[in-house]
Amino acid sequence: MLIKSFYPPLPPLPEVNVHHVLFGRPDQAEWPDYTIQIEEKTGRKRTYKEMVHRVDLGATALSAKVSDGGLGLSADGGEMIGLLGENSLEYFDIVLSLLKVTTPFAPISTFSTRFELVHALKLTKATRLFVDAKLLKNVLAAIDDPDVHLTSDKIYILSGPPVKGRQSFNQLIEAVKRKKLPLVPIHPAKKDTLAYLVMSSGTSGLPKAVMITHGNVICSFLQAIFAGQAAEPYSALKAQTKDLHPIAICPLPMFHSYGLHAYILRATLFPATYVILEKWNTAKYLKAIAKYRATHLTLVPSMVHALVNHPDVKTTDLSSVIAVNSGAAYLPVSLAERMGRLLGKTSEVIQGYGLSEGTIAALNRPIEGMLGMGAPPPNVTGILIPGLEARIVRDDGETDADTGEVGELWLRGCNVSPGYWNNPEANAKTFVEGGWLRTGDQFRVDEKGYFFFADRGKDTLKVSGVQVSPKEIEDVLFAHPEKLISDVTVAGVSGGRTDDEKVPRAWIVLSSAGKKKGAPAVIKALEKWHQESLSKYKWLRGGFEVVKTIPKSPTGKTMRRVLQDQYEQRAKKT
Ligand code: AMP
Repeated sequence: MLIKSFYPPLPPLPEVNVHHVLFGRPDQAEWPDYTIQIEEKTGRKRTYKEMVHRVDLGATALSAKVSDGGLGLSADGGEMIGLLGENSLEYFDIVLSLLKVTTPFAPISTFSTRFELVHALKLTKATRLFVDAKLLKNVLAAIDDPDVHLTSDKIYILSGPPVKGRQSFNQLIEAVKRKKLPLVPIHPAKKDTLAYLVMSSGTSGLPKAVMITHGNVICSFLQAIFAGQAAEPYSALKAQTKDLHPIAICPLPMFHSYGLHAYILRATLFPATYVILEKWNTAKYLKAIAKYRATHLTLVPSMVHALVNHPDVKTTDLSSVIAVNSGAAYLPVSLAERMGRLLGKTSEVIQGYGLSEGTIAALNRPIEGMLGMGAPPPNVTGILIPGLEARIVRDDGETDADTGEVGELWLRGCNVSPGYWNNPEANAKTFVEGGWLRTGDQFRVDEKGYFFFADRGKDTLKVSGVQVSPKEIEDVLFAHPEKLISDVTVAGVSGGRTDDEKVPRAWIVLSSAGKKKGAPAVIKALEKWHQESLSKYKWLRGGFEVVKTIPKSPTGKTMRRVLQDQYEQRAKKT
């Protein structure tokens, strides 16, 4: 069954550079000279107009001739610019500068090990790299690898002071200013002009580089604008916050699609002040909320979890917060409710679903009344955003699931990437006939068009040939009436009847109620509870383990692999 978005259709995509949409709005000239960014670490602040000028200078510096002190980048020079840095004003500037001159770039995770860095440099074929001074050492170690073609003379400093003999992005800009070079115009782009490569999460294998075009980015802007317009008249908060200037705190990494869009690409679409944190730190984050009177929080579930459990949360003034957006991983209803209770009635906790292969978003939570819809059920992930079509496909990869039946979510729309970079094998599996993207995620959709996340397809276990969803077991454990755990993950470990067959095991983090009860009593209680709630083949035959924390990637994805590997290594030794 073809499922279409309920929103009105999108207009045709303009064949322009992203910059025309970002900076080409007639009302922007009228915008007051408000502070668009504050860099928390250094205290640097700048206005919207200062930011626009800096980006113009950055684009000029990157494309100016080498003899003029620039890098001589051009749209068709075959270059790919790697970016490796924590959140900073320079990160913001270089992203928008590169888009303006249509030179593609590849953000790389600052958490990369040497092995992961080598993989990213090989995969993206980065011809140059801008790196934070403090990460330079890692890069110099990675380029020793014979398969990496990046050479030391093509490495520059992204933010931070210049390092001996190595130009920094800011120095390039200063050279352009000294020479008073004319500012470079926006380079034309078509819908399919490559804008950047973004790494897929790699929680179940090595990351792949997803191609995102100027058309994909513009499409995602239109989707956000149209969804916002449809929701606006129904938002309970809108009336209270009519003249409010939004203040957003920015802890998500800018190298991931979520941070890249939320803090950089969308920053000029909606006037707001963005307080940039170099990286996530719960205590600093709470301080920043109170200090800046933050109104909007963009988080991933692991950050929501860390926040609600932090000792300082009780004494932090959160009264300014009106909206919390969570994405990139499943947000359990109990966690959303806890966050909601902390904030009080005048705020919204909104979950979105998306993936890098779909540029950023695919499903969002509707507001009661919009598009003729009633109150959304509490555990809903969302409805299709404007311009998207979907199918829920059975295991056979062909037939459509019935309403209410779980299957793989397939998506089609202008935000869907044209494919992975240089990876025909993965493309054939993921980007299939008819323009469909196979998300690898399991969903069900009800008769009203609400989508409910069921599991990450790759995490589904087969026990005695029957599929077992780790998320279903996790939900049951969370639902114990005594609320004994604050976090949990379930994954397969060896111990099945065949070498390949895995059995489910649970890693649990005790809540304060759980700690009071004591680990052995909690395990006993959960053992009984899940056996009463689930069919026998779903029982945790791999056992329970109490852990302090569940390892999460910087974007909140559970690193099940880490726990599984630790378990298997221990099992081998015994
Ligand atoms: P990435 O490409 O790093 O953005 O990761 C995308 C993946 O994150 C998706 O394929 C999902 O498995 C997961 N994900 C994102 N948002 C949600 C959500 N709201 N609920 C459950 N899983 C999510």
